[in-house]
Amino acid sequence: MAKDLLSFTLEELKEELTAAGFPAFRASQLYRWLHVQLADDYAEMTNLPADFKAYLQENYVLTRLEAVDHQVSALDGTQKFLFRLRDGETVESVFMKYRFGNSVCISSQVGCRMGCRFCASTIDGLIRGLLPSEMLGQIYQIRRITGERVSRVVVMGTGEPLDNYDNLLRFIRLLTDENGQNISQRNITVSTCGIVPKIYELAREKLSITLALSLHAPTDEKRREIMPVANQYSIRELMDACGYYFRSTGRRITFEYSLIRGVNDSDREAQQLARLAGRAGAHINLIPVNPVRETNYAQPDLSAVTAFKNKLEKHGINVSIRRVLGRDIDGACGQLRHRHLSEDGAIRQPVESMSGEKK
Ligand code: SAH
Repeated sequence: MAKDLLSFTLEELKEELTAAGFPAFRASQLYRWLHVQLADDYAEMTNLPADFKAYLQENYVLTRLEAVDHQVSALDGTQKFLFRLRDGETVESVFMKYRFGNSVCISSQVGCRMGCRFCASTIDGLIRGLLPSEMLGQIYQIRRITGERVSRVVVMGTGEPLDNYDNLLRFIRLLTDENGQNISQRNITVSTCGIVPKIYELAREKLSITLALSLHAPTDEKRREIMPVANQYSIRELMDACGYYFRSTGRRITFEYSLIRGVNDSDREAQQLARLAGRAGAHINLIPVNPVRETNYAQPDLSAVTAFKNKLEKHGINVSIRRVLGRDIDGACGQLRHRHLSEDGAIRQPVESMSGEKK
């Protein structure tokens, strides 16, 4: 299999290319084209000699995600992209504008095997993990298409990032590389459903990224009802792992809690959740559950959401309610999916060419 050019670090590229007889500065020039100029075609790389480009073309693949659908929310301007990968699989990514900068939410896998009952991304199971180049490619392509800067990246799209650990780590290193996009680690959030051994591993990397834990229930019993992963790891084990993460990195964890009417929104659950968050020093992000066609989970009404928040705050917990963006285009949390079915169940036809996309 040809080697994946966009997944190499600058150091590795230098090694590879000097071993092939090219001077090291060619690797630096190439890396700049790939990760700063965001070129996705050798033709754009005007300062590289033809023999060098020919060598690259022969020995490497240059990953380029093709946008096959692009929807813009009429509610808030959030944009959702459907990208086709080299092997024909597709993933979704979301571009959001905030006052403090633009964010991109990327997918880490094609599909997902975690099986959370309220999430659309897992319905067809896992197809495969994404390569580092395919995670970067989502951001790079969105930058090209929108012409906008991206200052924050959240790995909260389809997939369980810690189930694709090595590729995730390499992606983070490439994205934060000062010779590339140079995005600060502090502006990256990785969300996990709680794969305990991987949380320990990640803690030992001593990154300053934010780790978000999808908790969604304050007791094992309730958590097992809605998240199959809870059969593998108890809340106690999760809390120990979070404590270790905090002590190792100095970074506070965020607990994500998707509020589902009649399932996890009682007073008692607010109290139990407050106790867990208090001990862990965690911030809580409440997400009123977003509708997914195949499930019948519903959001509590707004007053119940506010009441739940107030209860947590009474215990001194730092809480925010996640602003819902892109719900009309199924771009909100838990609404991203791998298969694109239209109302009658047929696979949606991809759009061939995108307006505004650089050719
Ligand atoms: N696999 C990772 C990241 C993907 S999901 C994880 O589990 O954290 C990103 C967040 O959206 C998670 O907290 C997830 O539990 C939440 N989510 C999934 N489906 C949702 C839905 N229908 N409504 C609201 N949040 C949802």
